[in-house]
Amino acid sequence: MSQQGQKRPVPIFDAHMHLDPEGRNLEAANEFQRAGGTGLVLVSKPYRSIPCSAVADFERNYELTVGMADKVRTATGLQVLVAVGPHPAELPRLAAELGLEKAKQVMLGALEAAGRFAAEGKAQALGEIGRPHFPVEQDILSSSNELLETGMRIASERGCAAVLHTESATPAVFSELAAMARRAGLGLDRTVKHFSPPVVRLEENAGLFPSVIAGKGAFEKALAQGTRFMVETDYIDDPRRPGAVLGPATVPRRTLDLLSRGVLTEEQAWVIHRDNPALVFGAK
Ligand SMILES: [Zn+2]
Repeated sequence: MSQQGQKRPVPIFDAHMHLDPEGRNLEAANEFQRAGGTGLVLVSKPYRSIPCSAVADFERNYELTVGMADKVRTATGLQVLVAVGPHPAELPRLAAELGLEKAKQVMLGALEAAGRFAAEGKAQALGEIGRPHFPVEQDILSSSNELLETGMRIASERGCAAVLHTESATPAVFSELAAMARRAGLGLDRTVKHFSPPVVRLEENAGLFPSVIAGKGAFEKALAQGTRFMVETDYIDDPRRPGAVLGPATVPRRTLDLLSRGVLTEEQAWVIHRDNPALVFGAK
């Protein structure tokens, strides 16, 4: 039923946030909402309270993320989608601890567990998965690529999205990732490049779905090319690295500022903050 004559508030969606039980967690979600935020993707991360060296540890990690999402929904009414998966930096760490072969098995089990969370409706995406953004040995890199493609295949089989963490995306990186997604059978609209530069044209991003990091000027740059993108802070909620990334109010502030200056229209805001997340994550 449409509420005729009643103006709905513009949706404001942060496509990549972390919350940490040792960080500000609920308080950060409140800050996001007070600034005008309406929805977000809560992404699992390596929590200090849950060191992971076996698949069961990753499952506890995901349960923590899912539980945190429930808490935020209950306390705020925000739309909270969930992404779970083994962070790509876990592979080199596990390889040092367990040896590469065992580490790969654990990462694979963690990807399969994430797929089960998606199948059970507890998560809408596998993420963040991918490969380390820092230089690693060749065998770690090739193993990361194998795991990434397997993760994409699992996402495709489970009918969910995949949120990719990789090195900085150049056109060559975008093409390589798009080729992997195609081989894995994962739709490009469901293949999200997290921490993306403002590269919206299909010929430059090879069809991956950009989640543009909301640093200065990036939203405007993306907008000048179209509306097929989402915006994110990658808020990390790490008390030991305050100010290391953009704060939780950044996406609402930038969105409202662009709206007030007429750079962003309400129609465009609805596409970027509501239609795009719905397309990518299958959420309403
Ligand atoms: Zn992240």
